[in-house]
Parts: sequence; structure tokens; C-alpha cells
Amino acid sequence: MKRGSFVVQEHHASHLHWDFRLEIGGVLKSWAVPKGVSLDPTVRRLAVEVSDHALSYLNFTGVLPEGSYGAGQVYRWDIGTFEMEGDSLESWQNGALRFRLDGERLKGGWRLFKMKKRKEGDKPMWLLQKLKDKFAVKGHAAEIVGEKTSQKN
Ligand code: MN
Repeated sequence: MKRGSFVVQEHHASHLHWDFRLEIGGVLKSWAVPKGVSLDPTVRRLAVEVSDHALSYLNFTGVLPEGSYGAGQVYRWDIGTFEMEGDSLESWQNGALRFRLDGERLKGGWRLFKMKKRKEGDKPMWLLQKLKDKFAVKGHAAEIVGEKTSQKN
């Protein structure tokens, strides 16, 4: 199974959200998760597909300047590697990803799947869900809005 890198960035833009990025097809396929990631396997979090980012963005932390898209502070919330079930790019194109994360905060099985005919503007909407395993936490609450994660380097 092929390993790729992933990162979750806490992005204090006009609306706080978490950017979930997976290395697929030589870029970072990306989703904006307004409520953040839940470890509760009964919770499905909206993940709006956003534009691909370059792999170099894996290590980005800092401030996107005023006037630029997504202006605001970007913190690294988690980083690590993942193993995709099947071919990553094909699964992304089919709108159904199953993978194992090996990060500092996020571990074990996850799935991301596209909701049919649901879009926010022209952006496809997906759902992100923890799979049931020893890393799942029933009742895991969302991150507290406005709480800042300390920067890890
Ligand atoms: Mn963002």
C-alpha cells in the first residue's frame, strides 16, 4: 500500500475552519471542514472540496495577508502519513476514499465520500467520518470555536 502525507490546518480566516489535505496525484487534494474533525464514528462532518494545493503547503504555518484569499492565521493542527485503500486518484475521482491516518492527533480508519448532487456554490460537498476502531472516541466534541492550537514545529 502506498503512503502519502496529510495535514490538517486550523485556519482563522473570516470563518474559522480546518483544512484537511491529502497527498493524491502529486498535489494536496483539499477540503475545508467548518466544524473540524470528530473522532466519534457516528458523526459525519461536512467537508467542502476546495482547490488543490502544492505539496510544499504541507509545512506551511503563518499568516495569509489581508486582501488575499483566506486571509488569516494558519496553524498546523495535525500532520502525518496515510495509507489509502485502493488507488488514491481513482478513489478521489469516484468520490469515495477510505484510508488510515497516522498522525499525532488523528489515527486509524477514516472515510471521505462525496454527497451526490450537493454543492456549495460550485464546490462539491463531501462528508468526513471516523471508522469504528480503537482510535474512535464516542461523543468526541468539536473543537471549541476560537480556541487556538499552539504551533508545533
Ligand atoms: Mn482554508
